[in-house]
Amino acid sequence: MEYALVTGASRGIGKAVALRLAREGFPVLVNYRSRQADAEEVLRQIEAEGGKAELLPFDLADPKAVEVALAQWEGVHPDDYVSVLVNNAGIRSDSLMIFMNDEQWHSVTDVTLNGFFYVTRRLLKEMLTHRNGRIINISSLSGLKGLPGQANYSAAKAALIGATKALAQEVAARKVTVNAVAPGFIATDMTKDLDEAELKKLIPAGRFGKPEEVASLVAFLASKESAYITGQVISINGGLYT
Ligand code: NAP
Repeated sequence: MEYALVTGASRGIGKAVALRLAREGFPVLVNYRSRQADAEEVLRQIEAEGGKAELLPFDLADPKAVEVALAQWEGVHPDDYVSVLVNNAGIRSDSLMIFMNDEQWHSVTDVTLNGFFYVTRRLLKEMLTHRNGRIINISSLSGLKGLPGQANYSAAKAALIGATKALAQEVAARKVTVNAVAPGFIATDMTKDLDEAELKKLIPAGRFGKPEEVASLVAFLASKESAYITGQVISINGGLYT
């Protein structure tokens, strides 16, 4: 059976993506780091809608934890593989660079960039062997444009775009596509401390996006219909100039 793995699926965009992919018929692996109750609620919702899901907690910034969790899953699922990987987990730790400490720099790049690397490298072989795969990396407007106070986050998200473009060329012949999605401001826990009233004046659509709107784009990129789209960065930002 083909599974979809969504990293950081306990909340926000990842949760919406997990619910949507389950509706599209994928059994979904719900990854998270610490919020077990939230992840269980995602599982419950998927099952209530008649879908199939499993929790797969691990800290994706920790290569050993990634290896242990995925090897364990493979042990229990010898005939299954992950054909859709949504590298969604991410954190912010904003600060002007002059005040940014090492921890802020490393924690953000560890989750967004190194986490993408550990999980994707681990799952690539099965996709290549089956000649079937969809890798969708959640980047950001910040990775395209750069945002002040986010040198760490902008750097990690821009690097993710570079990796998306390189990997897409490595694996295209084996029918594995690799794309990035670059959301603008989406209403989730990550943006709840921002001044929405002020920021939405900058957005032509006049509002923050919804996690479900990002999920719908991800679902298209995960589908068979998107087979000829690879190495792309698709913005979803209400028309915010990038
Ligand atoms: P969110 O609501 O803060 O959720 C973040 C998710 O990532 C949670 O499920 C969290 O798990 C998980 N996570 C964090 N660190 C992890 C780790 N080390 N290992 C495993 N999981 C980890 O964030 P969001 O707004 O939905 O953002 C999702 C993605 O979209 C991120 O990559 C973010 O950078 C990107 N993005 C968001 C926006 C926006 O406006 N919201 C805009 C552009 C891009 P726990 O619940 O267990 O902590």
